[in-house]
Amino acid sequence: MTMPGLTIPELESDADNLLLEACSKTLRRLGADVRIRAEGENLIRSLLQGSAFAARATVSACAQQGRGNLDWGWSEPTFDAPIAVIEASGLPNLLHEFVHVALAGQLADDHGIDYRAIPYDLGMPGGRQVLWDELAACVVSCAYLLGGSRQTGSWMRVDGWFDEQLGIQPIFYGMDDAPEHFWSMLPGLVELHSSECRAMSECAYERVAALLEWGAAYDAKPARLSFAMLWDRRGQVL
Ligand SMILES: [Zn+2]
Repeated sequence: MTMPGLTIPELESDADNLLLEACSKTLRRLGADVRIRAEGENLIRSLLQGSAFAARATVSACAQQGRGNLDWGWSEPTFDAPIAVIEASGLPNLLHEFVHVALAGQLADDHGIDYRAIPYDLGMPGGRQVLWDELAACVVSCAYLLGGSRQTGSWMRVDGWFDEQLGIQPIFYGMDDAPEHFWSMLPGLVELHSSECRAMSECAYERVAALLEWGAAYDAKPARLSFAMLWDRRGQVL
């Protein structure tokens, strides 16, 4: 007779280790010096000018791309020395950065997003693209944390991670003084532009899977979570 109370946490830890190794290995093969430290910051800092390994994911490019049909201008990265440092305080943060890298198609400071342009205007396509990029990183990192059909991760951790990631979003749109305004309008904005948001997340799923397979022969596919699915779970007592 097995003892589920003991085997489940061990499985989760094994799955986590495998995923952490796969992400780190892939990012290293893309030219990053990967540093995982509990007290570390969560960031990417470029060291040298590197070339892009894929085109940046835009809403319009992602919308034209069908599921399972990845057309992203891939080219094998070449470098003589690490072109960027990626710091993460653990697997969830590393996954979030990984998704940004996959969508950016390159290793660049702040993933090539111009933070001097903060606050982004969500009334404009360019401003919303920053939001869809962020939400894709939130959702797809949650999906990988939860795991595939065996769902080796726990929902409690996934829900907590989703909230934590959303918690820093208002500042990008100039709403850090009134975050409740951001939370109240967010579900409606996503619904109004659902095709934009979905295209970016689908693109992120395809790109992350392709990168992990290329970089680490990691082919476990996660459950396809969506923003709406994770948002609806908020506030639920588990
Ligand atoms: Zn982010």
